[in-house]
Formats: sequence, structure tokens, C-alpha cells
Amino acid sequence: MNDYQHILLAVDYSEHDGTVARKAKALSRKYQAWLSIIHVLDNIPMPDTAYGTVIPLDQDSGYGLLETEKAQLMQTADELGVDCAHRWLVWGVPHQEIVSIAEREKVDLIVLGSHGRHGLALLLGSTANSVLHDAKCDVMAVRLQDDESKRFI
Ligand code: AMP
Repeated sequence: MNDYQHILLAVDYSEHDGTVARKAKALSRKYQAWLSIIHVLDNIPMPDTAYGTVIPLDQDSGYGLLETEKAQLMQTADELGVDCAHRWLVWGVPHQEIVSIAEREKVDLIVLGSHGRHGLALLLGSTANSVLHDAKCDVMAVRLQDDESKRFI
């Protein structure tokens, strides 16, 4: 396996984030790689905002829902020791923005969760499937069980 230099952790604030984050953190330690973190906003209204817009984390938007999302990302990144320049909050479609930031930031490994869905969900596709399909770099899909803890380290 090649050494990785830049790892991108994708978090969706689900109960599974801790499991995925621990893998990403362990890999970043093992390879002494940069660790970046991304959350893609797809669940709050963002009028007049184009898909792919990176939301600044150091300015108060005055929009409560957005500030809550920012605080959540900052807390997770703090717990993992991700430096400020490697924190990404982006408005858009999760798999598209994860792949786009990975390319832009020269990431060589994306780490995300996978529920290993079957049937209809598999046909419709999941974020993990789509990233695996579209990313130009390696992707680690961490298999998730339903009782995973949300603790990060
Ligand atoms: P899903 O396919 O929605 O079950 O998500 C699988 C994995 O993709 C999650 O465990 C996260 O690692 C990642 N993911 C899903 N949605 C997002 C999002 N909005 N922002 C960042 N990562 C995400």
C-alpha cells in the first residue's frame, strides 16, 4: 500500500461518525498524513447559495441553523485535532462535494462510512457508493453497524 499524505474524513453527524473518525485519525497517525474533515450541507435551506459554495467558518452568518452546523463541525474537528485550514463545510450534494474537495485539496484517501445497503437503497445509490464510483483517489468505506458509538477518540 502506498503511503498516504492527505486523508479526508467525511462526516454526516450520524451516530456512526465516531467509528469512521477513529479510523481516519488512526490512518493519519500511521502515515503521518494531513487530516482534513468535510461536512456537506444538504439538510437546511440555503437560498441564493450555489452548490459547491464553501461556507466560511470564521464569520458569523447570523443564520442560526447554519451556525449550529458550523459549531458541530468545529467541535468534531477540535476533538480530532484537525487544523483550521483543513475544515470544510460545503453546500451541495454530499458525494459531489466530497469528491470535488478531495480533488481540489489533493487528497489521496477519502474515509467515510458504509451501511452496505442492499436492494432498493443499493439501486438508488448511497453516498459511499457514489464516492467510490466517482473519486480519483483511494476510498476507505468503513462498514457500519447500527449500534456504533458517536464518541470520537
Ligand atoms: P450514507 O450513504 O448517507 O449512509 O452515508 C455514508 C457515509 O457518507 C457517512 O457515514 C459519511 O461518512 C458520508 N456522508 C454522508 N452524508 C454526508 C454529508 N452530508 N457530509 C459529509 N459526509 C457525508
